[in-house]
Amino acid sequence: MGVLVFVETENGAPKGSALEAVSFGKAIADMVGGENVALVLGSMDGSGGDSLGSAGADKVLHDPNQEYDKGLIAPTSSAISQAVEASGADHVVFSKSSLSDSVAARVSIKIGASLATNLVSVPQKAGDGFQVRRSIFTGKAIENAEVSGDKVVFSIKKGAVEVQGGGGAQNPETVSYSISDSDLKANIIGSHKAEGDVLLPEADIVVSGGRGMKGPENWGMIEDLAKSLGAATGCSKPVSDMGWRPHHEHVGQTGVKVGPNLYVAVGISGAIQHLAGVNSSKVIVVINKDPEAPFFKAADYGVVGDAFEIVPKFTEALKGAN
Ligand SMILES: Cc1cc2nc3c(=O)[nH]c(=O)nc-3n(C[C@H](O)[C@H](O)[C@H](O)COP(=O)(O)OP(=O)(O)OC[C@H]3O[C@@H](n4cnc5c(N)ncnc54)[C@H](O)[C@@H]3O)c2cc1C
Repeated sequence: MGVLVFVETENGAPKGSALEAVSFGKAIADMVGGENVALVLGSMDGSGGDSLGSAGADKVLHDPNQEYDKGLIAPTSSAISQAVEASGADHVVFSKSSLSDSVAARVSIKIGASLATNLVSVPQKAGDGFQVRRSIFTGKAIENAEVSGDKVVFSIKKGAVEVQGGGGAQNPETVSYSISDSDLKANIIGSHKAEGDVLLPEADIVVSGGRGMKGPENWGMIEDLAKSLGAATGCSKPVSDMGWRPHHEHVGQTGVKVGPNLYVAVGISGAIQHLAGVNSSKVIVVINKDPEAPFFKAADYGVVGDAFEIVPKFTEALKGAN
């Protein structure tokens, strides 16, 4: 009985989305009984146990083997399955990421559990299972579904739950899971790390620019606005296709899906493929000189006007307010 939460880290610290998963796990443990156990694989800095405990972990397990830092699917899936077996957990929680999308499915098969993905809120208990709300059709609709079974694997979208806070700090317990040679068949020969102070998929605020910015030389304006808001920067697909911005900033159906509290779109028309990546945002602000731009239909606040006049004024106003 109980819940196991897989915690992804960034530079040794639990990601914000992983802390949400821990708070989600706490809510599930309150429904099904048992402990809410957080599992960290690979490097973790000394304060990890504090933030995980505060977010609602009753216990923190840590396997420090640095093989896991490579983010390989097979050893990660295997370690989580071993942890489930050893802890007796019957519910497993993942925060959605490119790694966990693959791992959650494998773990559900390995442990014989039902799989509920893309959850946007904490489910309700219903009979021997749960009633869940999940994002479908690349975020264009919400599905209400029932998931049954003694064992369930949940994968949650960013913002599905607020990090609780207030739990006690936890001293991580060191564990060691076996990694077989067949788990290490994939070999990473190089990786390119996304730059920036705030990572786009994790960001609470995103400022994105589109083709309306006219060229890469004007991106200082977007970066200044992002800096005054403590935001990550994003862009539309043509902008990254033209090489104005790196590909990891491309937001949309074929790029990064974001779910920030605030999404500011500057000079982006709002094509359906772009909206598919931003429609989990809590508040959308659109700045566009064309009052007919489709993005205004999805916006909570819209400013019709020239970005080159509005954005610097917006940034100045924010600096004055800080
Ligand atoms: C299969 C497929 C997948 C795709 N996936 C994605 C995706 O993941 N993400 C994505 O973004 N796109 C994607 N696209 C492309 C998408 O259809 C649009 O072409 C793209 O989003 C348009 O980018 P944009 O809004 O920056 O450019 P444009 O459509 O050229 O719009 C520029 C906007 O800037 C405004 N503007 C111009 N000057 C100013 C100014 N001075 N001040 C203020 N506003 C100004 C204009 O009014 C206009 O609305 C995909 C397309 C296909 C076919």
